[in-house]
Amino acid sequence: METDCRFNTKLLHGKTSKGFGQREILPPISQVTAFQYESMEELEKVFAHKSMGYAYTRIGNPTVAAFEQKVNELEGGAGAICCSSGMAAITAALLAVCESGDEIIAGNGLYGGTIDLFHDLEKLGIHTVFADKLNRDTIKNLINERTRVVFGEFISNPSLTVLDILGAAEVAHEAGIPLFVDSTTVTPYVARPLELGADVVIHSTSKYINGGGNSVGGIIVDGGKFRWNFEKHTALAEFKKYRNMAFSVRLRTDLWENLGGCMAPMNAFLSFIGIDTLGLRMERICENAAALAAALSKIPDIKVNYLTLDDHPYHEYVKKELNGYGGGIFNFRAGSKERAFKIINSLKYALIASNIGDQRTLVIHPASTLYIRSSKEEMEAAGVFEDTIRVSVGIEDKEDLITDFTEAIKNSSL
Ligand SMILES: *Cc1c(COP(=O)(O)O)cnc(C)c1O
Repeated sequence: METDCRFNTKLLHGKTSKGFGQREILPPISQVTAFQYESMEELEKVFAHKSMGYAYTRIGNPTVAAFEQKVNELEGGAGAICCSSGMAAITAALLAVCESGDEIIAGNGLYGGTIDLFHDLEKLGIHTVFADKLNRDTIKNLINERTRVVFGEFISNPSLTVLDILGAAEVAHEAGIPLFVDSTTVTPYVARPLELGADVVIHSTSKYINGGGNSVGGIIVDGGKFRWNFEKHTALAEFKKYRNMAFSVRLRTDLWENLGGCMAPMNAFLSFIGIDTLGLRMERICENAAALAAALSKIPDIKVNYLTLDDHPYHEYVKKELNGYGGGIFNFRAGSKERAFKIINSLKYALIASNIGDQRTLVIHPASTLYIRSSKEEMEAAGVFEDTIRVSVGIEDKEDLITDFTEAIKNSSL
């Protein structure tokens, strides 16, 4: 029953939904820095990995472990590691496989923080080559003997470029390179990158997985199937004996623990509660987003970018690979920055906030916030213009959202 059941049932009754402490129905919050032992011999065994146990929360904590196992089960992974934020997860995952002199192929309209991180990695001697859109051809053209990983966003935020994981994984694997996918905007409810051929999935759990907008966090899920070539992936050479699990073991026992970006127990607990309703929220959010985007696309001077709209280039892919779900984010162009601000300021329900994936609808003007330090070219490559409004749709009643946005647009004529 546990493995055969569907997504929402698995969320509540899966293998990782029981067996906590003293039969609690949720993992107890182990809000401690360290764990005490009866004897020094016992603690010695824990440190030597000869007996299971927790010693210090940066290295392991039962509340965090419960959340790791839950996300791992939903993504169909072989192991998962929680981090203090989505950026901490991306950083740890990339540093685990790249050394100075190595190259990363990255693209698909990346999140701004991730683009900045690639600039930081440059200073450590890790070079990134970018493709606007990652696909079979662009990846094939960029792969060389220094390439160690291909990194892309499944549905990019905010450009809404969709990564053809099947195709990308195939060309990467032919060259002995793993595919890492940031699936933050897709969530395991909509699609599971590991099933489509990706090797590692990364989430900012701060967004849809938590859903309540109450804690920053990230997670790395290892599919455990990639066959590392330790002559190429020298960053993992020391962990050769763990074969397919070398990436996870290096993170867990070495890099992640030393970088120090662990998730706080309280954040793991809040995210554990949040994820219980992921299926319900995503269903509602995607339905609301499709309805709101469709309604706004009928207004003559408003240009909407949303995946399920008939004129969207990924329309067919969404139908086929994402069960028709277009995700919770869409953008629209208002004609000018002034009009965009006027619309945003007069919305009754949408909060002006720099976040996505909250159960409340959120709006932002990306050009003057998220892309304030980007060049015009970088911004436009991400599908952001001076008049773009990004909407992260929530679970409110769609009729109210449609009325609110329609009125705000109508009243905004300059
Ligand atoms: C927010 C976000 C991140 C970064 O996550 P944080 O938890 O804010 O560090 C990475 N990728 C995507 C797609 C995001 O939306």
